[in-house]
Amino acid sequence: MSIKSLIRTIPDYPKKGIMFRDITTLFADADGLRDVVDGFAAEFQDKKIDVIAGIEARGFIIGPAVAVALGVGFVPIRKRGKLPAETIEVEYELEYGSDVIEMHTDAIKPGQRVLVMDDLIATGGTALAAIDLIEKAGGEVAGCAFIIDLPDIGGAQKIRDRGVDVFHQVEFE
Ligand code: 5GP
Repeated sequence: MSIKSLIRTIPDYPKKGIMFRDITTLFADADGLRDVVDGFAAEFQDKKIDVIAGIEARGFIIGPAVAVALGVGFVPIRKRGKLPAETIEVEYELEYGSDVIEMHTDAIKPGQRVLVMDDLIATGGTALAAIDLIEKAGGEVAGCAFIIDLPDIGGAQKIRDRGVDVFHQVEFE
């Protein structure tokens, strides 16, 4: 089965009118999991990535698998208050209100080329905040990679406008 057909759609989750793209069915399938990891590894093996930064929570599933395939390390970007050592943080706007993401201050060495990973990009707000965080730490964002892009919402374009490459494997309307 294709990667796209292994992604399950849940209507009206987490609220009415949202079509939630559920990647747990893709990860549960041995061939699907291998294919999606292989797709990222093929794209990034020659891009001189030093470390992958995965965004909580589903970036913690795909990011480490791709890090092993590329032979690089993995760094978590988390919601506020979850990381034990000293952190740096970035606040970003949500539809209603704002949120904060954090990373350990010493997680990224200055000048390292970082690949940002998450399962899905919609508005791009989360990924743009992750880019800010990595640059604040002195890292260089080598690209952003998602399993799913929702191109009609325009988040990936916002990241490209910022001068950062975006790669995805599947699109939904
Ligand atoms: P954005 O900040 O680009 O608007 O939203 C992307 C974030 O929301 C990602 O961290 C992603 O995991 C989560 N997200 C939003 N909609 C969906 C969805 O339909 N499916 C999944 N799996 N994650 C979603």
